[in-house]
Amino acid sequence: MDNKQLWDSVLAEIEVSVSKANFLTWFKNTKIVKQDNGIIHVGVPNEFVKEWLLSKYDRQILKIFRNISENIRGVEYIIVSLSSTRGIENPQSPTHNTGAFTPELPLNDLYINREDNLNPRYTFDNMVIGAFNELAHSATMAVIKHPGSAYNPLFIHGGTGLGKTHLAQAIGNQIKSMKTGKKVYYTPAEKFAIDYLNSVQNRSMNEFKEKYRRYDVFIMDDVQFMASKERTQEELFHLFNALYENNKQVIFTSDKHPNLLHGFEDRLKSRFGAGMIVDITNPEYEARVSIIQHKLKTSNFSLQPDMIAFIAESIECSVREMEGIVNSIVCQARFKNRELSINEVKMIIKNSIVPKKTASVKDVIRVVSEFYNIEEASLFEKTRKKEIVKPRQIAMYILREDFSISYPTIGEKFGGRDHTTVIHSCDKVKNSIKTNSTLTDELEQIRALL
Ligand code: ADP
Ligand code: MG
Repeated sequence: MDNKQLWDSVLAEIEVSVSKANFLTWFKNTKIVKQDNGIIHVGVPNEFVKEWLLSKYDRQILKIFRNISENIRGVEYIIVSLSSTRGIENPQSPTHNTGAFTPELPLNDLYINREDNLNPRYTFDNMVIGAFNELAHSATMAVIKHPGSAYNPLFIHGGTGLGKTHLAQAIGNQIKSMKTGKKVYYTPAEKFAIDYLNSVQNRSMNEFKEKYRRYDVFIMDDVQFMASKERTQEELFHLFNALYENNKQVIFTSDKHPNLLHGFEDRLKSRFGAGMIVDITNPEYEARVSIIQHKLKTSNFSLQPDMIAFIAESIECSVREMEGIVNSIVCQARFKNRELSINEVKMIIKNSIVPKKTASVKDVIRVVSEFYNIEEASLFEKTRKKEIVKPRQIAMYILREDFSISYPTIGEKFGGRDHTTVIHSCDKVKNSIKTNSTLTDELEQIRALL
């Protein structure tokens, strides 16, 4: 691996952990100047960047380097004159290494079409479909076939890094490629909110309204961002009604089910849930295998099947985290120029994953049993006693909704229950909270304890 590849791999990891703006500010025009006896010399454009990287990113950078090779002992930052950095090595992750670099655009936006905010990198072709996202995928297919009439709105929810943006963008790209003349527009909720505020300030509300009412397919990503932004919500509410009445398709994504969104007006929440609500969970084992294979293929790299199986068995995390792990494995193997041992792979996994899921399951079980004053162990028993059944259903529901744990895994954790039992339990809670406000309160209190 040469200096450029090595630095690209480090940047690829940093890119997913910081905001786009930060990434561009601090990592633009940086490169590895030389490696000397285990010390990496990173060239930076000025003193300011040097100080900042040293104080804020040094540990993270070193950790990533060490993950690639234990022989790397330290990182030093040196200021390189503008002429030697200009025109070379603008930071790009290995996945986007073609095309010109436009400095004012954030990295991920390199290919974004300003007309519709669509990035052609997100397609259905490069998306793995498994049980974890099957429902969301088939709902989107129906929407693509009959926009405005199949499911309207389509509301896709799931934890971070599970592929909501990928799916939402793929819908837009697909409809666009069909050349039916339908006008598609994708916007993160955040961008919509900024656009709205600007239009208020510039007194250009009419243009704002006209612009958004023109679209046949309107996709809004991460609506949870609008929590407590009352006026933007109100604008969205009216926009939604206008689009809906004209049979235009609306698609939302969110990190939570509409019922669980806090800081939203009820009338907007009820619109969110008026069409079809689908979720994406953590990928199950088979999907994890496919995702690993898919990512390896994109990196032009291969691993032994038993190694792939080992990785898929060892992790239960988001697609984004899986990308990070595969990326590290590929980098390290390329750097060492040989296959990695199981232990080396174990180390990479250990360093890459925040062990949140196991902690979460335990915490949920503890908090729920404490709340209902029952023994933790009783939650796993095969009993139908009412005082146990309810807490068990609630624990399952929280694990599913808040932690995106798959039905089969929840079943497994609860003493080998079938996944259909888990689905039934979660549905039961989901339906009860619609009418039972005591239950809603209890859930809120339990969540507050987590
Ligand atoms: P979210 O918006 O839910 O936080 P993203 O859509 O940004 O997640 O996905 C995180 C990363 O994982 C992206 O690089 C995306 O391309 C990739 N990804 C997500 N889902 C899939 C999938 N089903 N198959 C392949 N790659 C995926
Ligand atoms: Mg997203």
